Amino acid sequence: MEMESILIVDDDINLCTVLSEELNEVGYNSNFVTGAEAAIEYIEGGKKVDLILLDLKMPEKDGFYVLRTMKEKNIEIKVIVLTAYADVKSAIDSARLGATDFISKPYDLDELIITISKVLNTEKYED
Ligand SMILES: [Mg+2]
Repeated sequence: MEMESILIVDDDINLCTVLSEELNEVGYNSNFVTGAEAAIEYIEGGKKVDLILLDLKMPEKDGFYVLRTMKEKNIEIKVIVLTAYADVKSAIDSARLGATDFISKPYDLDELIITISKVLNTEKYED
């Protein structure tokens, strides 16, 4: 079976590096970009992305920009929002823009992995 590809989008490069390693260790193929526009470029570049882990708070364009742009362009990739700015309004706004789930930082790795596998399995069953 082909490895599932995860794109981490977060302006915190340390988080990207650590999380990417953690996900690769449990069998995902994860990559990261540190900005919203880079995320759209990556997605449109045609590399396989099964799931996006998206930070909301980033300088210049933020996570909502990524969600809005994906919606406009009909890019249907599952998104888990991963942010320190976890509040009810952000969760509602990101869900309205198509995010599947919402996890607050600092993340609990086990919880995150359970959520990722849940979201990816759901996608498989829907196909
Ligand atoms: Mg951030």
